[in-house]
Order: sequence, then structure tokens, then C-alpha cells
Amino acid sequence: MRSPKPTSDGYSLLLKNAPFLFKSSNASAPPQKNLKFGQLLHAHLIRTTQIHENVFQTNSLINLYAKCGRISSARRLFDEMPERNIVSWSALMAGYFHYGTATEVLSLFVSMNDVGFLRPNEYILATVISSCSDIRAFEEGKQCHAYVLKSGLIFHSYVRNALIYMYRRFSDVDGALSVFKAVPGVDLFSCNSMIYGFLEHGYFHEALEVLGKMVNHLVYWDHVTYVTVLGLCGCLKDLKLGMQVHNQILTRDMEWNVYVGSAIIDMYGKCGKIVSARNAFDRLLVRNVVSWTAIMTAYFQNGSFEEALNIFLDMQVDGVQPNELTYAVMLNCCASLAALRHGDLLNAHVEKFGFKAHLVVGNALINMYSKSGSIDDACKVFASMLYRDVVSWNSMISGYSRHGLGNEALKVFQHMLTTGMVPNYITFVGVLSACAHLGLVNDGFYYFNHLMKEMGIRPGVEHYTCIVGLLSRAGLLDEAENFIRSTPIQWDVVAWRTLLTACQVHRNFGLGKKVAEVILQLNPDDVGTYILLSNIYAKVRRWDGVVRIRKLMRGRDIKKEPGVSWIQVRNSTHVFVSEDNKHPQWSQIYEKLAELIAQIKLIGYVPDIATVLHDVEDEQKEEYLQYHSEKLAIAFGLINTPLGAPIHVIKNLRICEDCHIATKFISDITDRKIIIRDANRFHCFESGICSCGDYW
Ligand code: ZN
Ligand code: ZN
Repeated sequence: MRSPKPTSDGYSLLLKNAPFLFKSSNASAPPQKNLKFGQLLHAHLIRTTQIHENVFQTNSLINLYAKCGRISSARRLFDEMPERNIVSWSALMAGYFHYGTATEVLSLFVSMNDVGFLRPNEYILATVISSCSDIRAFEEGKQCHAYVLKSGLIFHSYVRNALIYMYRRFSDVDGALSVFKAVPGVDLFSCNSMIYGFLEHGYFHEALEVLGKMVNHLVYWDHVTYVTVLGLCGCLKDLKLGMQVHNQILTRDMEWNVYVGSAIIDMYGKCGKIVSARNAFDRLLVRNVVSWTAIMTAYFQNGSFEEALNIFLDMQVDGVQPNELTYAVMLNCCASLAALRHGDLLNAHVEKFGFKAHLVVGNALINMYSKSGSIDDACKVFASMLYRDVVSWNSMISGYSRHGLGNEALKVFQHMLTTGMVPNYITFVGVLSACAHLGLVNDGFYYFNHLMKEMGIRPGVEHYTCIVGLLSRAGLLDEAENFIRSTPIQWDVVAWRTLLTACQVHRNFGLGKKVAEVILQLNPDDVGTYILLSNIYAKVRRWDGVVRIRKLMRGRDIKKEPGVSWIQVRNSTHVFVSEDNKHPQWSQIYEKLAELIAQIKLIGYVPDIATVLHDVEDEQKEEYLQYHSEKLAIAFGLINTPLGAPIHVIKNLRICEDCHIATKFISDITDRKIIIRDANRFHCFESGICSCGDYW
């Protein structure tokens, strides 16, 4: 028996399904778009019917071509139609949207409205609103919102979610909240999406408000809700709420879900409970890349960088492939350890496995290089990025600032403004510290008083502290003190310490003493302050003061942390403490150091013995200075690295004045770039000059 000839409706049905007809018989495989089959049908239609006269068939063909990515074929059919209905417009618009040409969607929408008698339906509006989000056409988006409210289409969840998503993209909380509030009743999808959106933009209070609404309306929580709510608890560092949610998850037996489990790990990590995070990780039956990355992040956030790197190795042993977020965490660990060689290795990995184009990876690379002292490499990564977000720009600006390259930092900032990227809170911290570094008092105040206001950024304690640094660095110490005393904000110890450092550099003994007293009132155990104050006394040769401070420290049982320096040569890290003789190469190192000191003395180096204990002989003081850990590390680096290679040293304390002077001379006579990251900043020594401009 012959099968009956398909009717035109039958063709439409076949065409409608053509994009998703299965190629394979495996029912669990995702549907394959079957363009070939569709084209065959199209050819058949052209032979057997007057295709252009049938709107339904043509709509189905447009749908077929649009979904298969043949947008120009879809457009041709659309343009040739003698008459079109709402579905024709909707199919082509959806096609353009999925094809990534959102502007075309908007221009079609305008032409459709010109036709007059067609009223857009919910599908068209959802597509148009999503297109507005994509190309950031905020005004058009808001007009759509107004139409949606007038036409009653707000009750369609498609439209509502497109609107919420749009406001999320525009970070416009009021808009999103108004969409949310306009809807009577609450559904799970909008709630999840709203909480997530608020969380993403740091509007925690609003997220809590939505959560409250969910609880009041007895909305059932699914695993997505649990994941987002745990994220919220983490951001708020609300351990109590987090534990309540965890408890609920346990009673509902949802902990086995790998995403929920990972969110639990993440929540405990953010709340500083690394043991609980680890327990949650150990309890997971199935671990995927998300859970591994969550536990690494937890260790990273709690300062256990090496542990995080070890877990990375375990993960590879387990056969789980890292993703871009895993690499980002690893790179950030390297940044914190200033493990440049390890970071370099990871860079090679991400390049090889194609993760470098990911924004998070690019940003983490910039962070790693700039914090490990390789600002040039950071700059290379930045220049090669296809997309940059505000984090990329901020990392570059603060990276340059940290390296004392204020001019470069400000240049990047100007460049950022020309691209239309909107600076945020953190951007201005970098910009103001660059101004401080360059002594640009007027510019700094301009950014602080005008530009930040213009951009709607409320200054916080970090910005105020930058202003203190700006004034201090310019030697305007009294102004800096007045600024602190007259600005009614919650100052922390950092601002006062900035001023104290300035007192040391500018040898302002009187103010220094006053400032130190304030700091010690705020924090009586602040070792750094005792040391700074003692140095100030020593500089003006007030030995009685030095003795008093040391007695005070002894009485309060405050010990100076021993100076430690690290240097990475080839694949191992070498650690030096002052007067170290445990290193296998120690006699060679001491010999090299003695040789260097003798050489630099010839070109003007005079050991600065003011900062050493006063109650020993001068000769002995010199010896104490000679064997500071950073000098040992530098000598070791010079012996063990090829001529001309830069030397990277990390030190736990601030570099002392004598080591600073000596390193300048050493960089000159050896023709090497020596980069020291001390407790406060980077010092890049080259040809006898330090990038900090002798101010630290
Ligand atoms: Zn030193
Ligand atoms: Zn320096």
C-alpha cells in the first residue's frame, strides 16, 4: 500500500521537525539538526507546489534555515514572501538572535511595527528584549518594558525572564526588582534567577529580600536554589545561615548532588571554615571539576596556597580535567606565592589546552605576573586579550601602581576611559595610588573630588587612605594628619601607618612619635610600628628612644619577626634568614657578598648603620647588615643564574634602608635587574635606581 501524499500541513510539520530529526538511533544523544533532510524537502516542495503562496510552509522553511545557522537563506525566503504573518517575523528574528546579530533583530522589529496591523507576541518581545541585553541597548530595552506592562505580556514567564536578565546585564537593580514585584505570586525560576543576578552584582540585601519572599510564599526550593542561597551565605560570610541551609539539604538528602556539594564546600571556604569545607569534599561520592575547583578555591581563600596546589595534583591523579576556573585559582595561588616559574608553567598549560582566551584565565595571568614582579609579561597578556572586563583593566592599573610605574598606570586608565569601559571602586584605588606615587597632588584630588562623584562611586576607606598617601608622599605631613583627623570615617591602622612611614622618610620625629602612639592605641601588638618608631629615633640618633622602645617591646613580649627571603632558581625555592649558614652553598654565598660589598664601597656605598642596635661596635653593626636575608638571596641568585637574567626575591618584612642602598649599587655593577617584593610593595632595581623612588 502506498503512503498517502502529504498535505501542505504535513509538510509544515515535517519541516518544523527537520532541525531536530535524529541522525542516530541513540535516543539519549542530543537531537541533531538535519539540514540535508530539510533541504531535500525544500527541493521537493519547489518541484511539487507553489511554495511562495503558502505562508505556513515558508515560515517552517525560515525556521529550518534559521535554526540550522543558514540565516541568509532564511532571509531570502522572508524577503520573497508576498505576505507575512507574525510567525514569519518571529522565526527570522529568533534566527538572527541565535546567529548573534542582535542589531538585525531590532531593525526587523522596527520594520514590523511600521507594517502597523501586526501586534508583537510574547516570543517576539522576549527575543527583542534579549537582543537589547546583548548589545546593551538600554533605552530600547526600557521602551520594551513599558510596552510589556501596557500589553499585559508581563504574565508570560519568557518575557519576564528576558526582562530580569536584561536588568541584570545592565546592573540595574531597581528595574529588575520592579519586574519582580510587578508579578503577583512568585515562581521558582524567577526567584532563582533574581537571587543569582543580585548575587552576581553584589546586591546581597536585595537577594535576601527575594529569599524572604520565597519563604513567605512557600516556594519549593530546588537544587539551583540551594546552590545560589549557599553562594549568598558565602558572600555575606553568614555561617549561621549557611549551616541552617546545609542542615536542610541533609534532611532532604540532596548533599549527594555534586553541584550542591560543591556549593557547600564553597560556602564553608568563604566563611573561613576550611575543615568543614574539607569534610564536605571528603563526603562527596562523585567529584567533578566543579567540586575539585571549589575545594582548591577554599584553600586559596584561607591562605593555604601550597595546599591548593597539591590538591591540583591530586585532581590530575584522579583523572579529572581542569577547566578555566581551576586554572584561574591555580594562577592566583602562584600570584600569592609569587611563584613565577610555576606560574610560567601554568601559562604554557593554558596556552596548550586552549584556555588562554577565557577572560578569567587572562585576568589571573595578569594578576600572577604582576604580583610575581614580571609586569612586562602581565602587559603582554593584557595586550593579547580578545575581551577585557573591568577586572582586566583594574589588574593592569594596580599592577603598574604596585611596581611604582605611576605614569603607565595612568596611561592605562586613560585608555580604559576611551574604550567606554566604566571604572569602578577598585579602579580608583589604583589610580589614586598611581597619583600618590607620582606626587600628582592636584590630579589625585581631581579624581577623588570630581571624577569619582561624576561616576557615582562613593569613596571608601581605601580611597581616603590613598589621599593620605598622596599628601604624605608630597611631604605635606601636617595636611595629611589634618585630613585624617577632620574626615569622619572609620579609619583603620593602614592610613596612620602610611603617615608614619612618611614621618620616617621625611625625618619628622615629632609627628612620628604622635602617630605611633595613635597606632599603638589601636593595635598594641603592631610590631611594624615599634620597628618604624625605633628607626625614626635611630635616624635622629636618639639612642635613648631606641632603648626605650626595645624595653617596651620586651616588656610586652613583642618579638620582631625574623627577616626571611625567598628566591626561586630553576625549579626549587631557596629560603634565607639573616646570618644564615645552613645553605649548602653558604661559604660561596658569603664570599660573593664580601666581594660585592667591597666593590660597591669603591663607588660610594656607605653602610647605613643607624638602623641597627646601637649597643654594639660599628664594625659589628656592618656585619649584621651585610648578612640580611635579602642580600644573601641576591648573592645566591647572582651565583646561580645566567649573566643578565633578572633576579626575583621575596621578603617577609619591609626592606631595610641599608639593603635598599646596597641593592641599588649591586644592580648597577652587575648590570642586573633585581626585583624585591617586600611586605609592602615591589622594588625594581635597575642601573642603580629603584622604581620606588626611595620611598617605601
Ligand atoms: Zn637589610
Ligand atoms: Zn625601592
